[in-house]
Amino acid sequence: MNERVNLTGFHPAELAQFVATLGEPAYRGRQIFAALQHRRLQSFGQMTDLPKGLRERLNQIATASTLTVESRYISEDGTRRFLMKTHDNFPVETVFIPEEHRDTICFSSQSGCPLQCTFCLTAQLGLLRSLTAGEIAEQIIIALNDVYGVGVKPPHCVNLVGMGAGEPFLNFDELIKALRVMADPQGLFIVPNRVTISTAGVVPRILELATLPDRPHLAISLGAPTNEQRNELMPINKKWPLDELLSACKEFEKTLQAGERFTFEYVMLDGVNDSDQHARQLANLLNRHELRAKVNLIPHNPADPLPYQPSPAERVTQFQSILDSKGVRSFVRRPRGRDIFAACGQLAARGAINSIQNTARSVLAHVN
Ligand code: SF4
Repeated sequence: MNERVNLTGFHPAELAQFVATLGEPAYRGRQIFAALQHRRLQSFGQMTDLPKGLRERLNQIATASTLTVESRYISEDGTRRFLMKTHDNFPVETVFIPEEHRDTICFSSQSGCPLQCTFCLTAQLGLLRSLTAGEIAEQIIIALNDVYGVGVKPPHCVNLVGMGAGEPFLNFDELIKALRVMADPQGLFIVPNRVTISTAGVVPRILELATLPDRPHLAISLGAPTNEQRNELMPINKKWPLDELLSACKEFEKTLQAGERFTFEYVMLDGVNDSDQHARQLANLLNRHELRAKVNLIPHNPADPLPYQPSPAERVTQFQSILDSKGVRSFVRRPRGRDIFAACGQLAARGAINSIQNTARSVLAHVN
């Protein structure tokens, strides 16, 4: 498996080059791309429109699938969490969230995460490794095939969020490549307008994203309104402090086109960052940088052994009304899949699984 090249992360031009090295015409590359990305086939044996000899050759030198699903958990609210592993045994987590008029798939960009946000279970894994473009795209293929059947068109639109394990902007090139592969009309056809990427604040990549015409929506995880507190909760702040981060955000905001979304995320930790003063500081910070972006307030998703609890509903309402009084628009995000550790900040592969198996067996439908 290791030496075989994974074709799932190849875009059509790369596949045309690849089949040329096998002495095949370019249209075979287009056939393979459609089989992988549109028909969502995960083995060459299923690609019966290819000559048998080519399928056998592909089996020897390439692969159409590198991730294996280890476990699948289904929440009471229909959310599905997939624990997969890479060919070299690193965990990858993906969450499928059904809604009335659309589905959302939350994918991982890295196995583990090098950043040390204290409210996030993934941080405890550290960075295991970054995922390839193929491994990113394959998460979406696996989730869609599991929910709807192999190649079956989803009944409504599919949105993607890069908010699973990892810091997407520390794996920027593979991330952008995967998004371009998935946007192709002959493939999954999930266009950038249906994708939101969240970063903890990797400033150079925010500025780079601002230069890309085919970029996804951007969300910035803030977590705290002062450098002192953000250094504690999100140590990446020591490298790119709030003023530097928000100046980059302002540059990004200046390039926004009609229909593009740019948001801030603020995880609300009971008694930690949710006071009236924090709300005023947050509003003043955004106003000082003349940022108009909306703030998503996210009550923390508790996960042992993290020392935090979600802010109570009345606190969230009060926090929101202070933001509102200072002209900052906000929205409270409803947690999904908390019972299966699929909510934001709860993805941590083995740790979460152990915790689930020990403490929440009764509410899980554990398949496999
Ligand atoms: S919140 Fe995101 S960036 Fe921070 S440790 Fe968790 S996965 Fe990494």
